[in-house]
Amino acid sequence: MKISVVGTGYVGLVSGTCFSQTGIDVVCVDVDERKINMLNNGQIPIYEPGLEDIFKYNVEKGRLSFTTNLKDSLADSEAVFIAVGTPPDEDGSADLKYVLGVAREIGRHMNHYMVIVTKSTVPVGTSMKVKAAILDELAKRGENIPFDVASNPEFLKEGSAVDDFLKPDRIVVGIESPEAEKTMRKLYKAFLLNGHPILFMDISSSEMTKYAANSMLATKISFMNDIANLCELVGADVSQVRKGIGSDARIGNKFIYPGTGYGGSCFPKDVQALVRTADDYGHSLDILKAVEAVNYRQKEVLIKKIKSHFGVNLEGLKFGMWGLAFKPKTDDMREAPSLVIIEKLLQEGASIVAFDPVAQEEAHRILGDSIVYAKDEYDACIDVDALIIVTEWPEFRMPNFRVIEKLLKSKTIFDGRNIYEPEEMQEIKFNYYSIGRKSVV
Ligand code: NAD
Repeated sequence: MKISVVGTGYVGLVSGTCFSQTGIDVVCVDVDERKINMLNNGQIPIYEPGLEDIFKYNVEKGRLSFTTNLKDSLADSEAVFIAVGTPPDEDGSADLKYVLGVAREIGRHMNHYMVIVTKSTVPVGTSMKVKAAILDELAKRGENIPFDVASNPEFLKEGSAVDDFLKPDRIVVGIESPEAEKTMRKLYKAFLLNGHPILFMDISSSEMTKYAANSMLATKISFMNDIANLCELVGADVSQVRKGIGSDARIGNKFIYPGTGYGGSCFPKDVQALVRTADDYGHSLDILKAVEAVNYRQKEVLIKKIKSHFGVNLEGLKFGMWGLAFKPKTDDMREAPSLVIIEKLLQEGASIVAFDPVAQEEAHRILGDSIVYAKDEYDACIDVDALIIVTEWPEFRMPNFRVIEKLLKSKTIFDGRNIYEPEEMQEIKFNYYSIGRKSVV
């Protein structure tokens, strides 16, 4: 079987590589020549654990290749995946120009039956727009080539994308014809043989499932963050509360960790897009509007704590920062809480020296030299007034506090991820502020 995957970002590159790992021939396509050149030279443009090994293996086997030429990639392909970005438009709705641009290009070049599968996260109705765009291009050519559209939203998480793709909790596929179902079953045969459930449904429900899933997850985070803020006011400890509620099987213990607000390329834009879709249908999604408002506020929670410790004037203070990416094990900086915290601190006249194990290059692309980039976590502590923890990289969990206390100007940590225990920080006499727990001063 041969397929094309259009878009070689986090989703397209991981999906294409993982499909090739199941024995399928995959041609990955991107308009970004730099990316395609890198990939053709054996370099991976993103950081994703485990990707490099299977990438190299399948390139060597000749099953995985990269091109900027969509037309050529379509030859003999039984399915084409559209996995390009769907960034937020000015009004918060998903911008479909890349998805529909690819659909048109497919319509201009296809010459045999294939299934056009939308893997990008797209609002309900988009697959029908994809279909209309292809039909329009075929009509311009005077061609009547049969094809099907399908929706196959992706649920992988950056940082564990390969594992998530190869061992999915479920595969959701929206289809409208038996032929499309047959092709999708063939494509996912290896996953079915391994017992991973594949849920076939109508296309609208499939498109909606992705938004509902991300919105539910964002809701859990905002809910927990607001409970954490209340815990601080009433003198409760959110870590205890989390364990207390998480042991109820109906609630579950995942995704109920408080922090500095959700970020990344998906939750903020997908929540926004669903709110916008609902508004378009005259339905106000009040829960999600509150989820967004809480998240916005939460990104500034550490700033408030910093100000209440140092006083309102932060001019001339220097902060160390551990973590820049929106979460560990990724270099993705899109909508990262660190960006909000950095912006506010710089506005206040403070300076920042930051360390992230993999996101520094990406951070430099966005922030330039407005902050200093440290060579390791200890380097980010030298002569700073306080340390701020923004991303919970595993290596930050057990640092040598004896070294840190000698490097810091004052023994003060603002921990946006609750990676240390207040009691242990009290013992070693650090000022320690975390989320939803007592402060140690
Ligand atoms: P990304 O920005 O990392 O990659 C998108 C790629 O598409 C880029 O390399 C870009 O050059 C390419 N592209 C744009 N227009 C193109 C065109 N006309 N032809 C060929 N390539 C083109 O995006 P991503 O993070 O991989 O996300 C892709 C989609 O998947 C989005 O809709 C996103 O919401 C969704 N999604 C993302 C994740 C995630 O964790 N990143 C998870 C699930 C779903």
